[in-house]
Amino acid sequence: MSKTINVLFLAAEADPFIKVGGLGDVAGVLPRELRALSNDEIKLDVRLVLPYHPAVKAENLRPLDLFSIPRGDSEVGVEAFETTLNGLPVYFIGGEPIRANGSVYSLDAAKDSEKYAFFSMAAMELPKHINWQPDVIHANDWHTSLSLYVNLTKRWEAGAKHVAGVITLHNLPFMGADVGAILESYGVKLAQTDLPEWARVLPLPLGLWASDAIVAVSPGYAGEVLTEEFGCGLYDFLNLRKESLSGILNGIDMVSFDPSVDKALSVNYSLDTFNRRAENKELLQEKLGLVRDPNVPLLAVISRMDVQKGVDLAFTALKNMKRINFQAVILGTGDPKLEEAARELQTLFPDKIKAELKFDANLARQIYAGADMILMPSRYEPCGLAQMIAMRYGCVPVVRSVGGLKDTVKPNETGFVFEKMHHMSLVSAIKAGMKTLTDREKWETLQRNGMAKDFSWEASAREYLKIYQSLVK
Ligand code: ADP
Repeated sequence: MSKTINVLFLAAEADPFIKVGGLGDVAGVLPRELRALSNDEIKLDVRLVLPYHPAVKAENLRPLDLFSIPRGDSEVGVEAFETTLNGLPVYFIGGEPIRANGSVYSLDAAKDSEKYAFFSMAAMELPKHINWQPDVIHANDWHTSLSLYVNLTKRWEAGAKHVAGVITLHNLPFMGADVGAILESYGVKLAQTDLPEWARVLPLPLGLWASDAIVAVSPGYAGEVLTEEFGCGLYDFLNLRKESLSGILNGIDMVSFDPSVDKALSVNYSLDTFNRRAENKELLQEKLGLVRDPNVPLLAVISRMDVQKGVDLAFTALKNMKRINFQAVILGTGDPKLEEAARELQTLFPDKIKAELKFDANLARQIYAGADMILMPSRYEPCGLAQMIAMRYGCVPVVRSVGGLKDTVKPNETGFVFEKMHHMSLVSAIKAGMKTLTDREKWETLQRNGMAKDFSWEASAREYLKIYQSLVK
């Protein structure tokens, strides 16, 4: 007889409904990949729950019956909707705290706390209203981690079913703001935990504390969070939980990110028709208003404008390359200061550097297909998807040796890797890349090596399945 594992998968964003960053990519694919692992012996019924952000784009939403969750002497109404995405049941949770805060992530920590605490509480009530019982709650990052805390406190109630908790750690430094008062207002008590005192009221630490398994998004990052440098004050606590901590590399959507069929490209190509890639470089140069020249190295930054990503270092490196013949495109939005710095670079080098300060998924694909190298000088990088997408498109990554970048980019085999967080180290790596670029054969080998890599989700999904199985035994 086949066994079914029911998994409620919670995330703040998921492609194609709403995507701001890498989490959106992961939550858009992993739940479907997990469902696809179902076979005669084991059936995985994974269901995705997302906040009904005002910017969500979803068709055919069916409203569920309204329900409410108690708060103080009154109640907060929950509007839930359901739909399916290629067979994956998807639920959206709406309500005043979500409506009141337009963007997925705002700069207002208090509003975000209200929104995500409400979302996590409501999501834990959802199963009752859809007549379906999860065996595992799988949360992602701080936004949804309170669900695990609520799940654990429910488990303590007499007669409650054991529901296991898994958290995927995409970004440790973002822990959310103090939710002590909010939890109390929802009637959830703060437990005695072995967390450091400052962390006992923060959503992510509470979720980590309450989870049965902690998964970092790369083996490299799983090791790094145990160190003082990357552990954000939680490394002692995480070392105590070492047994339940593992690293599973994210995959990319190999179907969506496929240069042989990508609709965003005017010229498709694959390993078999590799020569056609060159046309994409020239088309990109033309689109950006740069000189059409197959020989000038075209560098790219496709990233959130955030210090985590080391884009400041990339800008300083480019500034220090005055005497070198290159072109560069910067695609990204985020920190206004970094956006301004990108604009200044464009003003300084109008013929060389183009700053596209927007979120543009199609342009990103055209850059992956046209640029020679992508720069990722991250200060820390839990996994990183951009370097994998880049390799899939034959764009060679130049990365810092950290977290998932270190796990995925092999020096001189698929890319260029540097250690020190210093712009001159990046410049040296770019120069090494440019030198190789002059040797067409060698360069093509690097590109082909990257394009041939299997970054599919299947292997990662199998690892997650093993974790679920170990928890529901
Ligand atoms: P993070 O999740 O830290 O932002 P990742 O490398 O894991 O970084 O994922 C970033 C994803 O967002 C990639 O798919 C990348 O192509 C995409 N992306 C980042 N900035 C932009 C942008 N301005 N326009 C389009 N896509 C972007």
